[in-house]
Amino acid sequence: MNTPATSLPDQKRVGMVSLGCPKALVDSERILTRLRADGYAMSPDYAGADVVLVNTCGFLDSAKEESLAAIGEAIAENGRVIVTGCMGDEAEAIRAAHPSVLAVTGAHQYEQVVEAVHTHAPPSQGPYVDLIPQPDIKLTPRHYSYLKISEGCNHSCAFCIIPQLRGKLASRRIDAVLREAEKLVAAGTRELLVISQDTSAYGVDTRHETRSWKGREPRAHMTDLARELGQLDIGNGTPPWVRLHYVYPYPHVDQVIPLMAEGLLTPYLDIPFQHAAPSVLKRMKRPANEAKVLARLKDWRAICPDLTIRSSFVVGFPGETEDDFAYLIDWLEEAQLDRVGAFRFEPVEGAAANALPDPVPEEVKEERYARLMEVTERISAAKLEAKVGRTLPVIIDEVGEADEDGDIGATGRSQADAPEIDGAVYLRNVPETLAPGDIVSVEVEDADAHDLFGAIVSAKG
Ligand code: SF4
Repeated sequence: MNTPATSLPDQKRVGMVSLGCPKALVDSERILTRLRADGYAMSPDYAGADVVLVNTCGFLDSAKEESLAAIGEAIAENGRVIVTGCMGDEAEAIRAAHPSVLAVTGAHQYEQVVEAVHTHAPPSQGPYVDLIPQPDIKLTPRHYSYLKISEGCNHSCAFCIIPQLRGKLASRRIDAVLREAEKLVAAGTRELLVISQDTSAYGVDTRHETRSWKGREPRAHMTDLARELGQLDIGNGTPPWVRLHYVYPYPHVDQVIPLMAEGLLTPYLDIPFQHAAPSVLKRMKRPANEAKVLARLKDWRAICPDLTIRSSFVVGFPGETEDDFAYLIDWLEEAQLDRVGAFRFEPVEGAAANALPDPVPEEVKEERYARLMEVTERISAAKLEAKVGRTLPVIIDEVGEADEDGDIGATGRSQADAPEIDGAVYLRNVPETLAPGDIVSVEVEDADAHDLFGAIVSAKG
């Protein structure tokens, strides 16, 4: 359970279990913000909740199992459970496993889930409701926030059911996104993580409509968004760290690289390539599947040498031959990506890929996965080793307790590390005044395959 507490007597209290990806976390935050505006308080534990919401993930079978287990736990601990999120589209499976759930609503159905809470735990009427404007509820720490710019997706990748679950691309207005970002920064956010299913496609559905913002007319477009976010101010004219996630390498991505070189945008791109072999990409029906990606990576790095590229790959997609896999390995050696996540292909119920011939045997998937990890870990270790001796800005996530010698350690991240998915920077001997969200200059003293180790050289990042 991960909800903030505080309530007045008689206020109905809602608990929330949020599973799945950052996009689902943003949905949980929106639902809780809306419920609080309706007079509900949040419960940090099962026992104090009048009703528990479980925001599920239904993407992979393993995620479904985890979702069903979480629903079971909430029922055992509290008994009054409403299910929402991606797995909500499989109400029958949920009810078969847990007949006592009070209601099941699907992904992105804010109205329905709020209505279900009103039905099963009617809000108490009191004079306290809505008297004081409240900041939005956040489930992430105060110093970083996810900024969701659109819902859904116009593509139809063979292994993915997101378009079925979440519908076609629906972009938010750029002024609404910027207002939310400005509010988050005013409330202490120092790092914004831009998320969607396809960030480079932002605004395609609204023909990149323009909106007035601070005397300018930005379009709903990734480059205008990036430029505007880079003009926010976390103090002393410093922009927040802004990371772009789920970017496809369309040609217009070239336009955000100079913003990184100028320091307006964090030099970090999360591009889920998934594979490199043309025949596999074709069967996967991947967008922006073009041969020139390696040349573009080179050009980007020439403009912004500190650019970090993170990506994810699927091994063992149906029909992947040994040659296809060797092509991927050669491509990775050439691309020298900084951060790589890999998955063994797993069929997702309802996905087109399930009907493809030539499934790859499990043991071959395992063997390819291990080979890929070996290569990408070697590349990652060499890249991190090259940072030893450099001084880098680091944002602090956690400050520890003093040990018996009085030394305090802290954990932070460099601009190359997104929270939750990348590595960390471990700091020794930090001042006790250090706090989460501080951005400091760190001299890197050591590295391993994933993380850096160092000491603060200046309290300014
Ligand atoms: S781009 Fe492909 S993988 Fe990503 S959400 Fe859309 S359909 Fe799914």
